[in-house]
Amino acid sequence: MNKHEKHESGCKKHGVNLSSKHLPHSSADMIPKCFIKTFGCQMNEYDSELVKGLFEEEGYACTQDINEADVILFNGCSVREHAEARVWGQVGVLKKSAAHSRQSIDRKTKPIIGIIGCIAQNHQDKIFKKLPHVDLVCGTGNLYDLPKMVREIQKTGKKMLAVNGKQRPHAIGSAGTRKGRLKAFVTIVEGCDNYCSYCIVPYVRARQISRLPQDILEEIKSLVENGTKEITLLGQNVNSYGVDLNAHGLSFVKLLSEASKINGLERIRFMTSHPKDTVKELFELMAENKKICPHLHLPFQSGSERILKKMNRKYTISQYIKVVDLYKRIVAGGSLTTDVIVGFPGEEEKDFKDTFNLMKEVAFDSAFVFKYCPRPPAVSSLLADDVNIETKKERNQLLLSLQKKISLNKNRFYLEREAEVLVEGHDKMKKKLRGRTRANKIAVFEGQDKLIGKKVKVKIKDVTESTLIAGLGK
Ligand code: SF4
Repeated sequence: MNKHEKHESGCKKHGVNLSSKHLPHSSADMIPKCFIKTFGCQMNEYDSELVKGLFEEEGYACTQDINEADVILFNGCSVREHAEARVWGQVGVLKKSAAHSRQSIDRKTKPIIGIIGCIAQNHQDKIFKKLPHVDLVCGTGNLYDLPKMVREIQKTGKKMLAVNGKQRPHAIGSAGTRKGRLKAFVTIVEGCDNYCSYCIVPYVRARQISRLPQDILEEIKSLVENGTKEITLLGQNVNSYGVDLNAHGLSFVKLLSEASKINGLERIRFMTSHPKDTVKELFELMAENKKICPHLHLPFQSGSERILKKMNRKYTISQYIKVVDLYKRIVAGGSLTTDVIVGFPGEEEKDFKDTFNLMKEVAFDSAFVFKYCPRPPAVSSLLADDVNIETKKERNQLLLSLQKKISLNKNRFYLEREAEVLVEGHDKMKKKLRGRTRANKIAVFEGQDKLIGKKVKVKIKDVTESTLIAGLGK
């Protein structure tokens, strides 16, 4: 599982301003505008980038102001109930303004409201019943159809549904729309064949399809030529990259190695890794290749053999520990993060203790802890959701407090040490610069804005469980 639902991004960072004053752009402003808000993981972020590119090619400008948009799109994750609820809530608030626009403004100039991505794929035409003011629903395999769908709606005024497409949102040609981005995601593999019993990704994103290596490398080259310094290769299971391409000698390790040779690229990351497919050669490459950042996101999901089996994760605890030990031994100074689920059907106190103990033993740098929630049509949704919500909350809290202590301890290792930071911008208070170390730790420090976009050496003066507080090094 990816770190689903951790990202909420839109043109407005702090949520859209969904006031009843919503009106499309004035007739004086002739350039049509498109607003996209994303709720979900990095894969959703990447798809939104592609969609922005498609609309830009159509002559649209991307706007950060929903109130001036002609096309309003919500790209949502469907893996977790919470992300979906936020999409329903935000689109629901638009109802009043959509009705107002319909009555008072010509159909051609009213904003078109659409729901796209995994959430559209999962709920399909039911969305029109739930939210009658939505004009279009477009699934993950139909994203390329979006501009055509919008044109059709503007012409006919009819709602449009597209969820049966097989086109993958491979962002060929979209690199140009991401000009000047310091960091960029590049999808290498879509979908997933693993069918973990709790997960709907294989249903909404379908079976695994790897992109051709030449397309991936071309996209990275184009991004780098346009100013990108750091790339993150994305996939639900990057380590199984290429198995569906039937090409001799092709593997994730080979692709990563080729990508790292691209001139001008300074850093390369990847996620997510599945423990059953993560191999020693990957760690050896990470250890010897300084462009590849020493960070591994390796979800373990449960420390109980019994629950792991019910989750259909296809590895045992001892196999997981073996991979972790290998990583720690080979990739010196590497960081390790994970995902874990509490309250899976049938999880008893002793199963939870196994999870707690595994977290303690491995000592991850950070962990995303999720409370189990059934997600039809995933197989586990047929099982009784028999761990009550209070127990789920309690177990969630216990893991979070344990992780907090471990993270703080891990970060203390960096005290008085130097680290290389790629400066991304400012901290939340806009008082300091903020960036990430090669091991993916957030560092903040005082410095001039001219350092943004550069790699600098810092010395760590203090730490919290989430941040390294640093000063500029010599
Ligand atoms: S099926 Fe398993 S491996 Fe695939 S995306 Fe879902 S959780 Fe990750």
